Amino acid sequence: MTTPPPDAAARRAARPVICYPTETLPAPDLGLYARARAEAEKTGEVLVPPRAARCFHVPAGGFFRISCVDGPQVGDLNLWNAADLSERFYSGKTRALHGTHLTTGHRMWSCFPHLRPMATITADSLSWYGIDADGAGVHDVIGTRCDPYTNALLGGAPYHQCCHSNLTRALAAETGLPPAEVERHVHDVLNVFMCTGFTRDTHQYFMKASPVRPGDHLEFFAEIDLLGALSACPGGDCGAEHSSDTAACFPLRIEVFAPAPGVLNGWKPPTPNSYDRSHGA
Ligand SMILES: [Zn+2]
Repeated sequence: MTTPPPDAAARRAARPVICYPTETLPAPDLGLYARARAEAEKTGEVLVPPRAARCFHVPAGGFFRISCVDGPQVGDLNLWNAADLSERFYSGKTRALHGTHLTTGHRMWSCFPHLRPMATITADSLSWYGIDADGAGVHDVIGTRCDPYTNALLGGAPYHQCCHSNLTRALAAETGLPPAEVERHVHDVLNVFMCTGFTRDTHQYFMKASPVRPGDHLEFFAEIDLLGALSACPGGDCGAEHSSDTAACFPLRIEVFAPAPGVLNGWKPPTPNSYDRSHGA
C-alpha cells in the first residue's frame, strides 16, 4: 500500500462525470413498438435444453421473447447481423451507454464500425428488481460468459457445457462449419435473468440466485435482421456455481413474433454509424 499524498481527500472528492450522457442518444419509439407488438403474430418457437444452446432468427421489425419455463434459469445471449457475422453485439459499449444492467428501453449495440442498435428491450417482467442491497441487478452486461478456458486456468476439471462451448456448438450447427472455426464469432453476452454486481470492498464480479421464476420474460424488438444464440447456463439460477453439472438447470423458451402488416410502414432498420472511418489519416 502506498502512502496517500496530503491532498488525498481533495483528489478523491473530484466530481463524477457521466462518461456518455445519453441526452443526445436517439431514443427508440417505444410507442410504435408497442403498437407493432399488440398486433404481432407468433411465427416460431425454440426450446433451449438445459446446459445447451440453440440459434434462432428474427427478421428486422420482429420481436423475440425469452421466457423462464420450469424453474429459475439464466441465459447467455449472443446476437449477430444475420447477413454478416462480423457485426455482433458489443457488450462493453452497451454497458458504457446504458449502465451495468439492461431493462426496457435499453438497446443492444453492435460492434465497430457499425455501432447501431441491434435490438431494443420492449418488456422486462423483472424490472421491479432494480438494484438490491448488495448492489446487484438482473440482465447484466458486465460478465462475459462461462467458458472452459477460465475454468482450466482456475484449476477446474475439463467441462464442455460452459456457455461459451454451448454457443460455439449451436453456431457450428447453424452454419455447418466446424466449432473451432465459428468459435471466434462467439462474444461477450447479455446475461439474461442473471443477478450480478460488484462487491463493495474489492469490486469483484459476483452472482447470486436469480429472482427469475417460471413465466418471467425479457422481450426484444429486432432492429436489424438477427441471428441469435441463447445458452441455458450450467449454473442454473447461478446461486452457487457454474462450469459443472452440480446446479439444477432448466430449459429456456424463445418465441418469435412478426408485427401485423402495415404497422411499421415508414420504419427502417437503423443505418450503420455515420463516422467516415478515415481516422484522421
Ligand atoms: Zn454460463
